[in-house]
Amino acid sequence: MEHAKKNLLSRRGFCLCCVGGAAFAATNGWLTPREAFAEARGLVSLIKDSAAASPIVTHRLRNNISVLEGSGGNIAVLTGPDGKVLIDAGITVSRPQLTKVLADLGADPITHLVNTHWHFDHADGNDWLHSAGAKIIAQENTRKHLSEVQRVEDWDYNFLPLATGGIPSEVFATEHSLKLNGASIGLKYYGPAHTDSDISVTFAEANIVHVADTFWNGIYPFIDYSTGGSIDGMIAASDANLAATNNETIIIPGHGKPVSNKAELKEFRDMLVAIRDNVAKLKKQGKSRDETVAAKPTADFDTKWGQFVIDPGFFTRLVYEGV
Ligand SMILES: [Zn+2]
Repeated sequence: MEHAKKNLLSRRGFCLCCVGGAAFAATNGWLTPREAFAEARGLVSLIKDSAAASPIVTHRLRNNISVLEGSGGNIAVLTGPDGKVLIDAGITVSRPQLTKVLADLGADPITHLVNTHWHFDHADGNDWLHSAGAKIIAQENTRKHLSEVQRVEDWDYNFLPLATGGIPSEVFATEHSLKLNGASIGLKYYGPAHTDSDISVTFAEANIVHVADTFWNGIYPFIDYSTGGSIDGMIAASDANLAATNNETIIIPGHGKPVSNKAELKEFRDMLVAIRDNVAKLKKQGKSRDETVAAKPTADFDTKWGQFVIDPGFFTRLVYEGV
């Protein structure tokens, strides 16, 4: 537990996605459902407490677009006369810090919020942002998950529905476009990837795209099988991201270093493919999940990618589940 706590607290951008990994790291093995529940509840509080004290760092990009780092997933903001447009909401306890950094970006009111998917560390702040004036837009599965008790099997944990104001009021199935502050903003559904609700958000003129949690920059990703995610879906989303970008595109990952590019995305995609192949080979030989972890199919990548709370063993288990 102490090790897990230190990991969580020492890095910015940790999230609930990491709870499973932290619980695993804490015990050197899977917890019983009862233990996992207690652990997850403790860690949710820990994440909230830590986010409450965590500063938000603003990275200014171009065309009045910035990215805010420090409240769950990376948050993009477009400013201008039509009001502030936020891509993801962060965690509610960050409200005072977010309010300040948003004010520093200009006096425009907050008018729009897009959720890239349903996870807590991207949508927990929906309700206060709605009260502050944001109309909330998302893929239809995000609304579905945020409206119901959401069970994440890996943690034996139930998330409660958001308050009515925090539920997206405008949803779409595959594509949606907005024209705000002179920017053409394209929202596009990936199909099942990290969850079954992930979308990319593209700012055409600025050549900037927020790719949700289909990309974790420099760290192993969480994959949420309990709401439709899979390793193959993650790889398909990475291929779609590569096809939709060029060498000048600024790519905003859901987690990890918030200002990225095509070369880093390509490296992430190649890591996913190589580990998927290694794990599939071992599973095909009849190896159990624990035997597969013991064979260290991620070894070539751990120095770079395995330093976050989704550690090599936890990531191997996530891949094993999907091959
Ligand atoms: Zn997520």
